[in-house]
Amino acid sequence: MANIENYDFGGKRAIVRVDFNVPLDENGNITDDTRIRGALPTLKKILADGGSLILMSHMGKPKGKVNEKLSLGQIREAVATALGTDVKFVPDCMKAAEAAKELKPGEVLLLENLRFYPEEEGKPVGIDKKDPGYEEAAKEMKERQKEFAKTLASYADVYVNDAFGTAHRKHASTAVVADYFDKQDKMLGFLMEKEVKAVDAILKDIRRPFTAIMGGSKVSTKIGIIENLMDKVDNLILCGGMTYTFAKAMGGNIGTSICEDDKLDLALDIMKKAKEKGVNLVLGTDCVAADSFSNEAKTQVCSVIDIPEGWMGLDAGPESIEAFRSVILPAKTILWNGPAGVFEFENFTAGSRAIAEAIVEATDKGAFSLVGGGDSVACVNKFGLADSVSYVSTGGGALLEAIEGKTLPGIAAIGE
Ligand code: AMP
Repeated sequence: MANIENYDFGGKRAIVRVDFNVPLDENGNITDDTRIRGALPTLKKILADGGSLILMSHMGKPKGKVNEKLSLGQIREAVATALGTDVKFVPDCMKAAEAAKELKPGEVLLLENLRFYPEEEGKPVGIDKKDPGYEEAAKEMKERQKEFAKTLASYADVYVNDAFGTAHRKHASTAVVADYFDKQDKMLGFLMEKEVKAVDAILKDIRRPFTAIMGGSKVSTKIGIIENLMDKVDNLILCGGMTYTFAKAMGGNIGTSICEDDKLDLALDIMKKAKEKGVNLVLGTDCVAADSFSNEAKTQVCSVIDIPEGWMGLDAGPESIEAFRSVILPAKTILWNGPAGVFEFENFTAGSRAIAEAIVEATDKGAFSLVGGGDSVACVNKFGLADSVSYVSTGGGALLEAIEGKTLPGIAAIGE
């Protein structure tokens, strides 16, 4: 693969897969432009070199059909403002050959939502996986996906993938398109490079002690990561809703707390594996229990294995917070995914806030800290601490798959 830093884009047309899947309000106004800002270093480098830009992205889930509510035309002005230059727009990503050809150095063209075509995702539409003709339809769609990718590739001289959020998908624009460029004309963008480096710091260049904090609602959705981390971490904090599956598995009374009853054996297995591998597994011991799932609920602090009937654990208690802090503060590598409580309710943010603050303290003392995956990013943003950790990942599913140790198709497609 080529390297974006050294590549000279002068006089070249670059097609860049960005993640402009930004949230919009009901009037089509952008409510958070983080993703557009994230792509700017790559886009500005290409324009500064004297290249021209063809920007492609998806927005939402139009499922292979045109849906004006998900048109990228709505964000054209915001992209123009961010880049400080006019942005042309083509309302059909398969009919952009002419506009691409006319691009002069320094000019920018934005393509319409790629997912208005089913070929982008490459899954056959209108047929169920169990239907008899499915395999045939899937095969045909793969061929159509190649043609779709080939058309996108025909617009440009060079391909850059800077969309980490979709790197775990083998879509036309994230992976297949790369097949139509020579090795020296395809590369990762700056944002992608940063994400890959951050994941490497967690999986390969680990400085010890390494503390991972996994929270959120369920153990089942995090099991792949927990298992992969078990071979790498020194301390593993499991918090949030999954606490109560563990508490119940240990024979505790958990009241009406969230629990995956079919994962009790899994919880015991995780505890056993941690012991075998010498991982210090830190589970919450006390919690802030509430008498209803509400911010205004009555609360009491109790042991996670002795929650009164009709009460539910919604946040980590003070003793748990101390235990979490004691393994976060001395850490030199930290990964955080998933809140320690129902942080959406102001009265149940203490556990997540304490984790965020401990991570910031450790980072100040030289630790590398990566926060990623949806809700923990929302947490650090809510607490105003996003700039005080080493890295906040833009990728939800992509980050989690990377940490599970899976090869991301979007990165593999670019090649070595
Ligand atoms: P996840 O998507 O699995 O990372 O889970 C994030 C969600 O877990 C957030 O919406 C939290 O409100 C929720 N959560 C965290 N702790 C608890 C808890 N003790 N009970 C119920 N939900 C929780």
